[in-house]
Amino acid sequence: DMPGLKKFKRLEPMPELPEVETIRQQLITALPLTIERVQFSSVADSIIKKVDRKITLTGQTIVQIHRMGKWLEMILDNDDRILSHLGMSGSWRLWQSEQAIKHAHVLFHGKNSKNNPMIFAYVDPRRFGKMYFMTSAQACEFRAKLGVDVSSSEFTIDYIAQTLRKYPARAIKAFLLDQQFFAGVGNYIACEICAHARIRPTRKAKSITLEEVTKIHAATKVVIAGQLPKGGLTFQGGYLDAFGEKGQGLESLVVFHQKICGLCQRGKIKKIVLAQRSTFYCPACQK
Ligand SMILES: [Zn+2]
Repeated sequence: DMPGLKKFKRLEPMPELPEVETIRQQLITALPLTIERVQFSSVADSIIKKVDRKITLTGQTIVQIHRMGKWLEMILDNDDRILSHLGMSGSWRLWQSEQAIKHAHVLFHGKNSKNNPMIFAYVDPRRFGKMYFMTSAQACEFRAKLGVDVSSSEFTIDYIAQTLRKYPARAIKAFLLDQQFFAGVGNYIACEICAHARIRPTRKAKSITLEEVTKIHAATKVVIAGQLPKGGLTFQGGYLDAFGEKGQGLESLVVFHQKICGLCQRGKIKKIVLAQRSTFYCPACQK
């Protein structure tokens, strides 16, 4: 009687920071993209959540794409914005011509700077993704509500220490998933950060020492650096990048959906459910 939760479990993991960043880096190779025509599928309304009626996309040029946590922000030459969250199964594809693939819900048909035809296609089988068309002022308000991106320079040891003090009773791994504080972290990254920091995912925030906070900071960099150059993580037939390719990040995982710990090479990985999410850790390495 909880079909949403079942889907959620089956599709883990969903796109997290490395996957969204991979797509961003691929899309920007096609910029600037002048939008000549916008095409929506019959069910695109379930993805497009907020639209400022004043915004017209046709004739505008996408000049830059930023990432804020798991959000992509496309910037138009008149300063309006397209915000996109990939949800569980979304991705943007870069096509030179229209492809006959299912679940393409929003298509920006246009031309790149070399006047070659180019399509940005938002593909999302499960349609848990979200898209907003906003003015720059609205996007600015939106951005202010997001937490610090864990790949940014604002993500410091001090920031982590201060944040953990806000909710001392929270389990550290569930805390790391909170986008209000640790934007970009999802389930696999949170599990892997705890592993590299040698911290049991169930530990309460108040029990984390300053030395361990330093380890969380370093572990976050290790986990992201283990995924980004490999184009992110593709698992259980999930995420594909802007060229329709799988990420090769599986080999960097040490605990997530592993049997034997990749750190000590002998600990048997334990799987628990923490705050309704599958959680993996090595009882030997993580205290
Ligand atoms: Zn281990």
